Amino acid sequence: MTTAYFSHPDCRGHDMGAGHPECPQRLDAIEDHLLATGLDIALTRRDAPLARHHDLTLAHSEGYLLELDEFLQQAVETGEHTAIDQDTNVCPGTRQAMLRAAGAAVAATDAVIDGEAINAFCAIRPPGHHATRSQAMGFCFYNNVSIAARHALDVRGLERVAIVDFDVHHGNGTEDIVAGDERILMVSFFQDQIYPFSGGVPMGENMVNLPIPAYTRGGEIRDLIRSQWLPRLEEFRPQMIFISAGFDAHREDELGQLGLVEADYAWITQQLVDVAARHCGGRIVSCLEGGYSLSSLARSVAAHLRVLAGV
Ligand SMILES: [Zn+2]
Repeated sequence: MTTAYFSHPDCRGHDMGAGHPECPQRLDAIEDHLLATGLDIALTRRDAPLARHHDLTLAHSEGYLLELDEFLQQAVETGEHTAIDQDTNVCPGTRQAMLRAAGAAVAATDAVIDGEAINAFCAIRPPGHHATRSQAMGFCFYNNVSIAARHALDVRGLERVAIVDFDVHHGNGTEDIVAGDERILMVSFFQDQIYPFSGGVPMGENMVNLPIPAYTRGGEIRDLIRSQWLPRLEEFRPQMIFISAGFDAHREDELGQLGLVEADYAWITQQLVDVAARHCGGRIVSCLEGGYSLSSLARSVAAHLRVLAGV
């Protein structure tokens, strides 16, 4: 069995305007690097299907989905960007992109549970971890990881899953959706006192939130992971691990001020692969979140994928 790589050309069709950091070129940078390094040969490529309405309701309210549909419809009718907030807008291609992104996360979950792949990475956009149950924000619309985790529990019958979020920004949307759901353990670290300015006080006992001061380097973050994440993951014994894989805690990324490098992403991934090997037959689904310096994004995704694929 190999690592499945889910993506779709439609994910490039979401464009929030010139100069926006969450841009289609992020996926191009990843693809180019995989080809240039030969790493693509180690992966099994799969086209992301469209998410179905039922999938979206696993994490979002019907009212929110209707409201979002109106924004999307307006963008299609006018052919222009429709702003949801100052960072986040939709264009005519957004609907297909967001449905492919959520669809990839669900299909990857099925592929891994069905034993078609040992684990999977979803090279998708828009990202999802800031989207709450009832609000789009921070470049995010559908919470891809929450939808996938709930699909594993509610549709596929698993009893315990973990969500790991190493994006530099707090995954406030995921926390909003899963806090208090004792079938899910969420562990994360994020830079303190930056967008979305939340996470200092966990919303439930199933949350392990680690706010980290700016300019913290990888060594200290590894120590925190060893002492705070890993014991909780061991104790929880997840049957599957979902990763909100943002790469904007990289030293070269200008949207955050943390000091991770590729070797740190490889190390973190190895810890999760080890937990998954002990408790869940290796089952991991990783979904792209942030990461805005194109070069460090591509190198970090490759470091993450090398460990997932064991090459
Ligand atoms: Zn981020």
